[in-house]
Amino acid sequence: MVVLLSDLAEELNSSVSELQSMLKKYDLDWNPDSDSIEDDVAELLEGELGTKKSSVEALVEKVEEGLEREIVKTQRKQVAGKTNQKTSDADTEEFKTNQLEIAESISVKELSEKTGINAAKLIGELMKNGILANINQKLDYDTVALILSEFDIVVKKIASSSSFADLMTQDISQILAGDEPEDLKSRPPIITIMGHVDHGKTKLLDTIRSTNVVDSESGGITQHIAAYQIEHNKSKITFLDTPGHEAFTEMRSRGARLTDIAILVVAATEGVKPTTIEAINHAKDAGVPIIVAINKMDLPNANPDKVKSELAEYELIPEDWGGETMMVPVSALTGEGVDKLLDTILLLSEVNDYKANPTRPAVATVVETHVDPGLGPVATIVVNAGTLKIGQTFVVGDAYGRVKSLTSNAGKKLPKLPPSAPALLSGLSKTPFAGDILQVCNSEKTARLKADNISQVRKNESLTSASNLSEIVSRIKSGDLKVLKLILKTDTKGSFDAISQSLAKIQHAEVTAKIIHHGVGTITQTDIAMAAASGALVLGFHTSMDSNVQRIAEQRNVEVRNYKIIYELIDDITRFLSGMLEPEEVRTDLGKAEVRAIFFTKRKEMIVGLKITNGLLKKTAKLDVYKDEELVGEGKIISLKKAKEPADEVKAPNECGIKFTGNVTLEEGMVLHAYEIEMRERTL
Ligand code: GDP
Repeated sequence: MVVLLSDLAEELNSSVSELQSMLKKYDLDWNPDSDSIEDDVAELLEGELGTKKSSVEALVEKVEEGLEREIVKTQRKQVAGKTNQKTSDADTEEFKTNQLEIAESISVKELSEKTGINAAKLIGELMKNGILANINQKLDYDTVALILSEFDIVVKKIASSSSFADLMTQDISQILAGDEPEDLKSRPPIITIMGHVDHGKTKLLDTIRSTNVVDSESGGITQHIAAYQIEHNKSKITFLDTPGHEAFTEMRSRGARLTDIAILVVAATEGVKPTTIEAINHAKDAGVPIIVAINKMDLPNANPDKVKSELAEYELIPEDWGGETMMVPVSALTGEGVDKLLDTILLLSEVNDYKANPTRPAVATVVETHVDPGLGPVATIVVNAGTLKIGQTFVVGDAYGRVKSLTSNAGKKLPKLPPSAPALLSGLSKTPFAGDILQVCNSEKTARLKADNISQVRKNESLTSASNLSEIVSRIKSGDLKVLKLILKTDTKGSFDAISQSLAKIQHAEVTAKIIHHGVGTITQTDIAMAAASGALVLGFHTSMDSNVQRIAEQRNVEVRNYKIIYELIDDITRFLSGMLEPEEVRTDLGKAEVRAIFFTKRKEMIVGLKITNGLLKKTAKLDVYKDEELVGEGKIISLKKAKEPADEVKAPNECGIKFTGNVTLEEGMVLHAYEIEMRERTL
């Protein structure tokens, strides 16, 4: 933020020389000709002065006083009867339920007018957060969101800037939602390699890297970073060099969405293994397309057909068998088939046409982090959108910084990173977590503020995913979730078959239960991780979990339920699903009455005399109004009287008087059909 010394002096009712001498006390060298005092003032206000804090507060007060005068002047100019100009805290209460929509930026004055919060109060709040602003100062969206959160006002953005909330939820799609379709350009696909241990994931990643690196001529020191990019047939492909689906799951459980395509490596010598199945379910649940690499084809006992038939059980049918899954026989050892695999990746990405806006402020995802002895905290990142450049300021999780260097896997120093490009980033205040989202900010101050806030929130609530039952239920109720995801571990395949058949019978159009992963055996750490990543409920049938897994489940807020009897499990699931259904409205007809006399008619209310012809009338009844047997309007009873005494209900063949309100003017001879609406819980 740029504040001219002369402006500040004016605001403070002070002089340039007085301010200079005040700052000198803090050893701050402030040149009146310089146009920016950003860092100096930040430091002054940051509390780094320790014992001199009272001086800072005095400065804040002084600014507030100065502005108060300016605001009073402005307010006087405004039309006197403008009642929505609110100046007290109590008044802002009224605003609470409203959302404030702003575009990229808004001035303090406009913000005060829109929210009804005294401008001096806003400026004071900004100062507390290290931002020195005058009344005409433009504030960016993130600053507004931050400051107004103090006043419990929800800010919604109109433009594509990202909010603190987006950063917290790590919701990339939300962050990128504002990009205009015409700004989107094709970007290279981002690939994750998954599969069972020893099936050749690492070897495959090595073979692809060593034969296809883009910038191997760099002469830099090759370093092993957690992602690399290759060029094949003049097209780029990014690989996440973190084999194993644990990394994929971990990133997903933090909300990151980085993978476009999953390569499932299955050794032709061994076929489908438990981890292969887990990987399939993970990719499917994340909606990530799978290409199968049938590996170790160089070995004499390789049996690709066995792999294909086993995969078919998991709905991965190879194209040559009439299915849709691309399967490529390869040997990671000899390199045979690897080109074909890369061709297949490019083919699929051409079909899916992955796109990003390269010109927006950069957004990237952290793949891995560590502390480098020379560079300090570093992170392997892959850019989701925008172009990240050297020198830019950013926030990433609870860390922030300025891009000091971007180094490719081949050791080449890169000036910038376009969408899908990976690099090792240095210039971080501390190490973030894998899955954290990096975002470029306007100033270091904003970045630091955001990082501090994220850190605070993380301290308060560990970032667990919503797979605890009450959270799942509330998400379903809010319409967020329509499927109750289940991870089912059973003692035998037979029990699984029995349970899944029974579950299939309790499906419903609005809410369904879906088994996203199942297996025979104990509940493992991977099951918990998967539940956390996908918001699933873990069900055990005649099985157990060790105390370590239980602890992890508690930590990650994952609900695990154990059953010994099938119908109890089914009953529970039925109950959950029933509870998730919205209650339905049930109409009960009460009776009919004829309008005999009109006593009083106001614009919205009437008092009429009725003769109840059948059934009864209740004081809470709703009414359909008929004239000559034709429905002409509707309304309701406001009050009911029998012989001038208030009554709860009056039965036929009595007469009664009602106060009526509705969308029709009652006339003598009209017939009212009384009914009531009950909200009834639904069951499956
Ligand atoms: P990961 O656990 O899935 O990462 O598997 P690795 O890449 O570490 O491979 C496990 C073992 O299989 C290593 O000894 C590799 O050298 C070997 N291997 C991997 N791919 C092939 C292949 O295509 N053919 C043969 N013969 N061996 C392979």
